[in-house]
Amino acid sequence: MNFATKVLHGTSCFDPVTGASSVPIYQASTFHQADLDRPGTFDYARSGNPTRQALEEAIACLEGGERGFAFASGMAAISSVFMLFSAGDHVVVAEDVYGGTFRFLTRVLSRMGITVTFVDASRTEEVRAAITPATKGIYLETPSNPTLKVTDLAAVSRIAKEHGLLVIVDNTFLTPYYQRPLELGADIVIHSATKFIGGHSDVVAGLAVTRDAALGEQLYFIQNGMGAILGVQDCWLVMRGLKTLKARLDVSTQTAGKIAHWLSAHPAVTRVYYTGLAGHPGRHIQEVQASGHGAVLSFDVGSRERAKALFDRVKLPIVAVSLGAVETILSYPAAMSHAAMPAAERQARGITDGLVRLSAGLEEADDLIADLQQALDQLPPLEHEHAIPTTKEAFTRA
Ligand SMILES: *Cc1c(COP(=O)(O)O)cnc(C)c1O
Repeated sequence: MNFATKVLHGTSCFDPVTGASSVPIYQASTFHQADLDRPGTFDYARSGNPTRQALEEAIACLEGGERGFAFASGMAAISSVFMLFSAGDHVVVAEDVYGGTFRFLTRVLSRMGITVTFVDASRTEEVRAAITPATKGIYLETPSNPTLKVTDLAAVSRIAKEHGLLVIVDNTFLTPYYQRPLELGADIVIHSATKFIGGHSDVVAGLAVTRDAALGEQLYFIQNGMGAILGVQDCWLVMRGLKTLKARLDVSTQTAGKIAHWLSAHPAVTRVYYTGLAGHPGRHIQEVQASGHGAVLSFDVGSRERAKALFDRVKLPIVAVSLGAVETILSYPAAMSHAAMPAAERQARGITDGLVRLSAGLEEADDLIADLQQALDQLPPLEHEHAIPTTKEAFTRA
C-alpha cells in the first residue's frame, strides 16, 4: 500500500462495532468486567482505551513498527522513553536536539544518574567516539532543529548494533511520510504529534513506536506505570489530523522549498538552512534516507534587532513557538524553542540571535513570499561589528 492509502486504510478506519466513519471517543475511565475469570480487552483506561488504541495502532502501522504509544505530549513521550534506561547508563545525544529535550536531559535525567554526551551526530565518527562501556543508547533528531543538520541514520544504526545500543529517533520534522527510521535500523521512533501529525495547532500530544514486540512490552510497562497517556479527546484530534498528513505535507513542503530558494537570493538574508538547497552539506544523505525535505527551514537575518523588525512587519505567519501546522509559523529559536539552552551553547550550535525558523503552512506560497519580501526590504541595516559566520565557516562544522 502506498503511504497516501495507508494513512487512511492501514488500520481500521471505521468503528468495527457501529461502522461509524471515525473511531468514537470512548470517554470512559473503566470497563465493566462480565466475568472475573475472563478479563476483557480493556480494564482501566490508563492501561488501555479503544480510542487511544486506534491511534497507537495507526502510528505503529505508518512507522512500520510493532507497537505504538500515545502520550500526553512530545516531552511525555521522550521522558517516558528515557525511563528505559537505568542509573549508571550513558546515552549519546545529537547536540542540537529540541530545547525541551536538552533541558530534560541536563536538568532532570542528570539527577537520576543517567548521563549523556552531546555530539555533532551529522559526523558519524563523533557518535562512535563518544561511546563508552556504560553507553546504552543513541538519541537522534534529523534534520535537526533549527539548523537542519542531517544524521546518517543507517550508518549510526550500524555502529549502534556493533555495540548493542538502542537507537532512538525523534522523527517530528519529517513524519513517517518522508522518513521511517525503523526501516533504517532504529529501535524507537518518537513524535511530538503537536506538530505535523496533529497539524492544526489545536492539540498537544506525543507518540512513540517500537520496532519489536519485546521493546514494546518494556515501553508499555513504562507508559502504564508512569501514566503520561494521551486523553481520548486528544487521541481523536490527532487521528483526525493524521488523515490529511500527506496532503498537507505535499503542499507545505513545496512551499518551504520555494521560500528557501527565494530567501537564498535575498540580500537581507545571510544564511538559509534547508536540506533541499544545493549547498546543504547533508542534502545527499537526506535524499537517500528520506523522500522529502519537509516544511521547516531556518534563515539568518544577522542580528536580534533585525529579527525583531522582521517579526514586527510580517502579516501572514503567526509568530509562535511550534511548527507543523496549517498556518505558517515563524519562530525565534534563541528566545523560544532553545531558550532553555545557555547562550554560549546556542551560539556554538549556530542558533544565533538573527536566526528565524519558518514552518510553511497551507497559504499560497506567492502570498507568503510577498509578505516576507515587504518585511525583509524594510529591515534596519546590518551592523557589521557583530560578525556573522560566513557560509563557508559555518558549513565546516556540519
Ligand atoms: C515540539 C517538539 C518536541 C516536544 O513536543 P511537545 O509536544 O511540545 O511536548 C520534541 N521534539 C521536537 C522535534 C519538537 O519539535
